[in-house]
Amino acid sequence: MALLDDLAALLGPQGCLAGDRVPEAARSDMSRSGRALPRALLRPATVEEVSRALALCHAVGQTVVPQGGMTGLAGGANPRADDVALSLQRLTGIEEIDREAATMTLKAGTVLQTAQEAAAEAGFLFPVDLGARGSCTVGGNIATNAGGLRVIRDGMTRDNILGLEVALADGTVLTSLGKTVKNNTGYDLRHLFAGSEGTLGVVTRAVFRLRPLPRARATALCALASYADVLALLAKARVDLPGLSAFEAMWRDYFALNRALAGLRLFAEAPAFAVILEAQTDAEVLQVFLEGAYGAGLVADALVAQTEAEARDFWTVREGHAMDTHLPGLINLDVSMPVGRLDDFARACREALLARFPGAHVSFFGHVGDSNLHVAVALPGGPRDGAHAVDAIAYGLVRDLGGSVSAEHGIGTLKRDWLGHSRSPAEIAAMRAIKSALDPEGILNPGKVL
Ligand SMILES: Cc1cc2nc3c(=O)[nH]c(=O)nc-3n(C[C@H](O)[C@H](O)[C@H](O)COP(=O)(O)OP(=O)(O)OC[C@H]3O[C@@H](n4cnc5c(N)ncnc54)[C@H](O)[C@@H]3O)c2cc1C
Repeated sequence: MALLDDLAALLGPQGCLAGDRVPEAARSDMSRSGRALPRALLRPATVEEVSRALALCHAVGQTVVPQGGMTGLAGGANPRADDVALSLQRLTGIEEIDREAATMTLKAGTVLQTAQEAAAEAGFLFPVDLGARGSCTVGGNIATNAGGLRVIRDGMTRDNILGLEVALADGTVLTSLGKTVKNNTGYDLRHLFAGSEGTLGVVTRAVFRLRPLPRARATALCALASYADVLALLAKARVDLPGLSAFEAMWRDYFALNRALAGLRLFAEAPAFAVILEAQTDAEVLQVFLEGAYGAGLVADALVAQTEAEARDFWTVREGHAMDTHLPGLINLDVSMPVGRLDDFARACREALLARFPGAHVSFFGHVGDSNLHVAVALPGGPRDGAHAVDAIAYGLVRDLGGSVSAEHGIGTLKRDWLGHSRSPAEIAAMRAIKSALDPEGILNPGKVL
């Protein structure tokens, strides 16, 4: 207990919650796979406190699980009963928006939506956006290298970080909060920590690049008859549609169900593929592009949003939040592979899953412009006994197609056993070498990723 006393003395009563003061929220991320509450929840409010708390834990070999907004979907932030959780939720705030450099410097616990709103107020676009924006933290976005809705234009989170500050397992703080795009001074440590899921260090601050706030945005929902048409529309949009910022596809089952759940009547019949096309341009420009696509036989029908509310309706169907309540125990997979093979995967995966689980709901949607597919599976008897078999079927196909078992959600604990489907033994050995160099005692987020 000496450690908890030392931590309480360092962090104060609000910064160190132990025993029955640990809130239920510390148990699990949004994968709902967490089983235990940690022995204590640390809530440091400064970088110095993060560093000193880690040093105390390191000195006695206490394992530490970093926690952000707990919206992760891979079990990466879930503690075990003898871990200490370290929440970044009190380390918040935007330190600076540099208009000349077009950068934002902020603390890791800042909620993504707060960063987006501050950027917009200053006339900029924050380059990361995802459905969990109201709860996830920028530190969590960096630690998972989050993707999201605008990757086709702005890249993944790692592509938008110019500077990073990280506290290592022993409390050493690495501060590289540079604002320059060009910096070839040896190993690029940013990219080591981006996507490391709290296993190599605790992100404390970051510098993000900002983009110009778009002057216009146009959104359309397109109906397509085949996957070949989806690919041809994507290729055409990349060349002919200025400011393409999202290309999201829904396979028929996914679109039909979520359209019904949203109570919307978009198209008379659910098409084989529905695509949301978004571009930073005027609606007239998008209209002309779609007329060309229609003339070329790529698009069977299209609705161009006339208002923000109409665009929001398209995204409501795509984000499909209502599915979680309609199909309790829904299993969500997140995979990627060459874009030309996504429908081959979807067909094979549906067939194999239905052969194994007759009556299952299987549907597909995703960031097709980024070669990223999500698979939503609801088993007739719930996921209890079937989740492993679903993983084995889907990830086996992903391996055969040369894809990745995690496109954007990370590995955490839920995909740890499948890492070898997408990474070679030599790659995994290199990852282990990096882990033991930076965290030789193995106190940071043990059992995650590797
Ligand atoms: C509705 C919904 C939509 C989503 N959409 C997307 C999407 O489109 N794209 C996408 O990529 N993800 C998506 N996600 C997943 C999730 O939102 C992201 O993974 C997000 O980046 C997690 O941030 P967080 O702050 O909630 O992190 P947490 O869930 O708290 O933690 C995630 C991982 O990061 C580590 N971590 C957290 N903070 C830090 C830190 N400061 N330093 C070091 N390690 C840390 C944790 O240990 C854990 O391993 C979605 C989730 C939901 C619920």
